[in-house]
Amino acid sequence: MKYVSTRGQAPALNFEQVLLTGLAADGGLYVPETLPTFTREEIAAMAELDYPQLAYRVIAPFVGDCIPAADLQGIIEQTYAEFRHNAVAPLTQIAANQWVLELFHGPTLAFKDFALQLLGRLLDYVLERKHQKVVIMGATSGDTGSAAIEGCKRCSNIDIFILHPHTRVSDVQRRQMTTVVGDNIHNLAVRGNFDDCQAMVKASFGDRGFLPADRSLVAVNSINWARIMAQIVYYFYAAVALGSPAREVAFSVPTGNFGDIFAGYLARQMGLPVARLIIATNRNDVLHRVMTTGTYGRQELSHTLSPSMDITVSSNFERLLFDLYGRDGQAISGLMRDFEKGDIHFSAAAMEQARQLFSSRRVSDEETCRQIASTWAQCEYLLDPHSAIGVRAALDAGLAPEVPVVTLATAHAAKFPQAIAQAGLEQAVHLPLHLADLFEREERFEVLDNDLAAVQAFMAANINA
Ligand SMILES: *Cc1c(COP(=O)(O)O)cnc(C)c1O
Repeated sequence: MKYVSTRGQAPALNFEQVLLTGLAADGGLYVPETLPTFTREEIAAMAELDYPQLAYRVIAPFVGDCIPAADLQGIIEQTYAEFRHNAVAPLTQIAANQWVLELFHGPTLAFKDFALQLLGRLLDYVLERKHQKVVIMGATSGDTGSAAIEGCKRCSNIDIFILHPHTRVSDVQRRQMTTVVGDNIHNLAVRGNFDDCQAMVKASFGDRGFLPADRSLVAVNSINWARIMAQIVYYFYAAVALGSPAREVAFSVPTGNFGDIFAGYLARQMGLPVARLIIATNRNDVLHRVMTTGTYGRQELSHTLSPSMDITVSSNFERLLFDLYGRDGQAISGLMRDFEKGDIHFSAAAMEQARQLFSSRRVSDEETCRQIASTWAQCEYLLDPHSAIGVRAALDAGLAPEVPVVTLATAHAAKFPQAIAQAGLEQAVHLPLHLADLFEREERFEVLDNDLAAVQAFMAANINA
């Protein structure tokens, strides 16, 4: 399997190379040159597989001959054995033909564990084999940081530096990062906001001169292809459980960077009968505006009750655009250059194609709280604020009543107690047992000024030999 850049100018890579890369050299994102596809019979046969078996079936063609089959199987089995539910991604019904796919049974209680637990193990395997060490640098507004740290904590070949905005992540989110102890784990609290952290990561990928010559820099945000790949699996798992391929299924996806829902798009391209993909956003509605107006533009960041979706630019949208523009790297390169200067407008043909599969809904904080409260009132099921946005969008999607709609529940409610309290349900929320003592554990993090040179100097001084 070969991977190509969405901007058409970077060299094609194999899976191992793409795993160890961030952005492509031309500024684009890597995507498979061709997608594997499954026949109806092959999809029907998935019904008898458990989660790790199904994951292997979906993931193996993307890895190609980079990892021997038995080793890849072992890595996948270990990854999902860490999850605290035997079904790994259980489905719960909350209304007639409305389902919730629970993606929060991993170690850090958000769906990001599905990809980052696997990514950590894949990196460890590949680095061990190559006798290579790397540095991971990432910025987080909350969920990515803890999932990346949990995923990489056992890897002696990785030093991981996670930047979070000092005093601006929730206590639960911060403690999930800072209480994981290890010489290779470095939590940096930057006196700035998330965008400042993100800008420092970007600048560091642009100029890696501060690192020792033998260390490359690896990305853990969703520009890393392996994250998208791991997320394709649960679309198959849920649809097959609900009767696919005989039955079409729709998905509603709480969306920020467009990584999770892009995996659903790929599942459909691989043969899964997906009736519709619903982009559910909060007040940061760049994607809802694209879907309704065809214009992609920046706006001010709003802080909402669903902070993991508080972003102004959805980087993975570029991967969809690449397909909508007939895989023309030059066209994408031109569009993205124009986006540096201001709003961009997509062609009518591209938008028409997108609207055949995708629809969108923006949900306010007030509606989010109302949905949490009403789902609780109807079936005593507690949604986290991100999942509540997905459910609201699913209920309003206007799909035929016989089409099952699956909302991806992207986080556990206990991660966002503030939103749950605003919905009036403080009493209903508890941290799962494995985190019950989170507030007693010792924290370790370094507070640094919002200054690139200071951050890079700290990193250079703290990389393990
Ligand atoms: C990251 C995250 C999202 C957004 O996912 P994208 O892949 O960025 O669209 C939604 N909900 C939660 C809880 C998250 O952590």
